[in-house]
Amino acid sequence: MEHSQTKKLIEEVVSELKQEKFLEEDITHPSEREKVLDSAGEILKITDKVIKSYIRVSREEGVIERIPAYRVQHNNISGFYKGGIRFSQEVNEAEVENLAILMTLKNALHNLPFGGAKGGVHVNPRNYTERELNLISKKYVQRFARDLGPTQDIPAPDLGTNDKIIDWMVGEYKTIHPGESYTGSFTGKSMDNNGAAGRRESTGIGTFLSYFYLVSEWFTQEQETTHKNERRQKQRQTLEKLHDKHQEDTAIDVAVQGFGNVGSVAALEAHQCSFIKHQVVAVSDQFVTLYHKNGIDIDSLLVFTNKHQRLPQKKEELQESGVQADIYSPQKILSVQTDVLILAAIEDQITQENMKDVQAGILVEGANAPVTVDADLYLQEQGNIIIPDILANAGGVHVSYLEWKQSRITESYSKEEIIEEMSTQMKDTLKKVYDEYFNKASQTMRFTCYAIALRRLISLLFRHGKLF
Ligand code: GLU
Repeated sequence: MEHSQTKKLIEEVVSELKQEKFLEEDITHPSEREKVLDSAGEILKITDKVIKSYIRVSREEGVIERIPAYRVQHNNISGFYKGGIRFSQEVNEAEVENLAILMTLKNALHNLPFGGAKGGVHVNPRNYTERELNLISKKYVQRFARDLGPTQDIPAPDLGTNDKIIDWMVGEYKTIHPGESYTGSFTGKSMDNNGAAGRRESTGIGTFLSYFYLVSEWFTQEQETTHKNERRQKQRQTLEKLHDKHQEDTAIDVAVQGFGNVGSVAALEAHQCSFIKHQVVAVSDQFVTLYHKNGIDIDSLLVFTNKHQRLPQKKEELQESGVQADIYSPQKILSVQTDVLILAAIEDQITQENMKDVQAGILVEGANAPVTVDADLYLQEQGNIIIPDILANAGGVHVSYLEWKQSRITESYSKEEIIEEMSTQMKDTLKKVYDEYFNKASQTMRFTCYAIALRRLISLLFRHGKLF
């Protein structure tokens, strides 16, 4: 998704907030209130700081490369800038800025005391040796050290980065800032380096939870609110179909795009879910889709992927893994017959070109921005339920918050405590969103999430006296 589209949605939500008379108790005069909301919208569409630099690396074969690297700090009205650093071939300034805006909205939606930022390095980490990646990570910190810090801007892992890379970055940060507190300067560190237990799994667990909580609520409360228009009626049918399957003890089918930190954990959660029966009928990575209509054995698959860092690609490899499935192209995952599709790869996966092929009634955005705005509107019009990124994939940043807090109060939490706390916080937000969403039939769930986030951000801007 382009940042211009995210900004457009911010504008639309601000107009809606005018209608609902947001801030009416504080500003009674309607035209005054409109002016204040407009200026809040303008502030939130502007990015505080974009830093671009180049990292010079000498490759093993002697060539010297200049690699573009970014840190974008969007807004810090609700707390220190926070957001991951990605290593990816797709990284460019517009993308990093969009992801930084999404972090501001995500943190505000989930009531986390952080603002939004994002970093990126234009490399495909698979093409670099460990020594080269170490160099790139250290140089990234050298370039941006002045703008980072535990009470300034706190990075974390994202696509293509992990705890090892974050540990290297912490080491470099400590060298540059000797004698300063450095433990809270990054989150997503390894356990041996003051990381939080469960951080790696947290985004995948939270992603599955965002879907699971929606259907569980539906099953227990039999929401009466979805008959308001045609779209809501179709959504009701989708949920009822799942309900019927549950009653008949038939498994709900799940497909998962992406089998990295988010997708593999979300797939395992679905596979192991004991409250409502699920089967993972398809998984994919950048090379293949694996499909089996009776479900794939995720436990066995994980033994293979942990060893090879990719899914089996040939019949012999499937045999080696003990997994029964057919092999298709990576794009196939988006059109397989399934009830739920978890999108846990990269952005812009469902677009105008392929949106009509989607079979799943429920889509869950484990990745950031995997559905383009046009496809999003089309699918929601068709009655698909899309659980948006800023709602679904916040498990990681929730645990980041606990890791950061842990370093400030010098206490540590067990994995159980962390997952429990993350789930409780996620459920609070999920409930808030679902209650409002099912009551406002004209809204997409993304719109509802933006509205909740923007109410918090605008109220803070107002209370901080920034809207005169
Ligand atoms: N990269 C993750 C995200 O997009 C986590 C960010 C963080 O923990 O700061 O939400």
